Amino acid sequence: MTTTTPTTEDEKAAFLAKLKAYEGRTYGPPMRGPDPVNQAMIRHWVEAIGDENPVYVDPDAAARSVHGGIVAPPVSLQAWVMRGFRPAASATSDVQDEIMSLLNGAGFTSVVATNCEQEYFKELHVGTHLSTTTTVESISEEKATGLGVGHFLTTLVRYTDEHDDLVATMRFRILKFKPGTGRSATQAKTDAEPATRPPRPRPAVTQDNAFFFEGAQQHKLLIQRCSSCGRLRHPPGPACPSCRSYDWDTVEASGKATVYSFVVNHYPQVPSFDYPLAVGLFELEEGTRLVANFVGVEPDAIEVGMPVQVEFVEHDAELTLPAFRPVQVTA
Ligand SMILES: [Zn+2]
Repeated sequence: MTTTTPTTEDEKAAFLAKLKAYEGRTYGPPMRGPDPVNQAMIRHWVEAIGDENPVYVDPDAAARSVHGGIVAPPVSLQAWVMRGFRPAASATSDVQDEIMSLLNGAGFTSVVATNCEQEYFKELHVGTHLSTTTTVESISEEKATGLGVGHFLTTLVRYTDEHDDLVATMRFRILKFKPGTGRSATQAKTDAEPATRPPRPRPAVTQDNAFFFEGAQQHKLLIQRCSSCGRLRHPPGPACPSCRSYDWDTVEASGKATVYSFVVNHYPQVPSFDYPLAVGLFELEEGTRLVANFVGVEPDAIEVGMPVQVEFVEHDAELTLPAFRPVQVTA
């Protein structure tokens, strides 16, 4: 195995040509799922996910449904072809191994999954026995990403049943990258003060939601309002879900809210945030809900239903966002 990193343009071109030669190739023979779709595994899966649709567990309800019997949730697709806790030596393919050692050998040793798109064509009935065939769809040229310099590898997995009918496809993309070459690493190396934290990620501003962020910049919490029927809505969108009108204006919220729900994130840790990071779903007294951070409270002390009041946090010159602080309730 070669362990030299391609550095000159010629070396990079030669390396890319080696990678590109794998496009269109298939990972070994088709892999067959260890078990057919079965009621017991479906029940465990929907219990873990919290999906209470009776077509997955109740034979009578399932028989009366359009499916005519128990089916597995489409998104459980992957569960039926998992390789197992101790995969057999045959579970990885030569093609996959070759691509990985090529990339690892050139220094692209880290990996992160970046995209997954599934498309479903047939229901997963009890008894369906899935097999998969994985084809290399594309391998990108070298890209500079926030995580590091690397190559995107896109595979297309075809899921077929025991009749060889296509049940689903999954396009799966990973980034194989060189650790320590990302934006934060580069910044840490060049800054005299390595503790400098990268700026908070920018929100995805669109024509529909720009008013919200512009309002926040002026310390105003704005809610989109349908100018035809008056319904308030959040997150912002182009049309009113009640009357379909495209006309809208905004109202300024009082900022009084309650904690509708919240999560406390521990991992993965993004350098722009402090952890544990509490994120709330706040219900405004006007009725709409929004996702924001907490201020002035330890994650352990947060409770659903807690009254809170908006504040505006100026993260940097371009970014001010609403956050919510618990208010003292006087009995
Ligand atoms: Zn409306």
